[in-house]
Amino acid sequence: MLSIEWTASQGWLAPRITPYQNLSLDPATCVFHYAFECFEGMKAYKNSDGQVRLFRPEKNMARLNKSSARIALPNFTGKAFIDLISKFAAIEERFIPAARGFSLYLRPTMIGTQRTLGVGPPGSALLYLIASPVGPYYPTGFRAVSLEATDYAVRAWPGGVGDMKLGANYAPCIVPQLQAAKRGFHQNLWLFGKEEFVTEVGTMNFFACIKDKETGKNKLMTAPLDGTILEGVMRDSVLDLAKERLKPEGWEVEERKFTMGELADAADEGRLIEAFGTGTAAVVSPVRKISWKGRLVECGLNEDQEAGDVTKRMKAWIEGIQYGDEDHSWSWKI
Ligand code: PMP
Repeated sequence: MLSIEWTASQGWLAPRITPYQNLSLDPATCVFHYAFECFEGMKAYKNSDGQVRLFRPEKNMARLNKSSARIALPNFTGKAFIDLISKFAAIEERFIPAARGFSLYLRPTMIGTQRTLGVGPPGSALLYLIASPVGPYYPTGFRAVSLEATDYAVRAWPGGVGDMKLGANYAPCIVPQLQAAKRGFHQNLWLFGKEEFVTEVGTMNFFACIKDKETGKNKLMTAPLDGTILEGVMRDSVLDLAKERLKPEGWEVEERKFTMGELADAADEGRLIEAFGTGTAAVVSPVRKISWKGRLVECGLNEDQEAGDVTKRMKAWIEGIQYGDEDHSWSWKI
């Protein structure tokens, strides 16, 4: 693990890479009481000739700093942290299998470590990073997920902190997730407001491909960054690749608010082509159906199909970049 301590009086102290070990913290430490915690999720990949790479790490660093600033924890220079992560990944290089789909999952975490029950800005903090080798999310090929549109619980709201990667955003989502699982669904599709805007799915951003009712044009759409969704690195990557590679084929690409009703109408009229979630864990995760108001909205897949065309192409494009098959500025050689 990589650890860097911070104190208000001394700033950041010298970073250390040590064997994985327990933290020893006083029971009154502020992280345990007031949730001074934020984190990131990213991966190190190895291509076939042994070169280790990170995927758009500057995006994770910017998001970590945005999260930490919101909960009165310090910032760390993004570039310096990427250098430290690179050193760490180089030391742990033997844990990164050089095979497609395998990677080293990296979990940067920052916590407030001040020993106090007083509610205030932490006077000390710890930034640390742990890691674990992970295998392909879909070892036997894509498996489309089914979702439960959730309206009785709200993940994020305007002016809230749902656009930040705070630990406090995640614990309250587990009970709704269990509720959905009890009814046979893999994930929640988080709706917002009386309009039932579609925001995110579980811990992924959500994309839908529809045929526009008026123009008949194919459209890839996802919710805008209005503070109620996390600014996913994969979301941004899918949007950029869609603009570069799908637009020339006649696709329109839109970041806009859309409702569950709109999706259901598109499905009823045969205009919902496919839907998928995006995130670092799976890159893309195809969606088969969404339970909403007692009905099932089918998301364009045939029974014998696990993923749509755009979903498959996005996965191939992004993995091609992550594993260095395609030379691209998003893939950082360490
Ligand atoms: N939304 C939420 C709530 C998440 O936790 C994640 C995972 N970080 C995402 C979206 C996807 O983000 P990314 O593409 O950066 O992994």
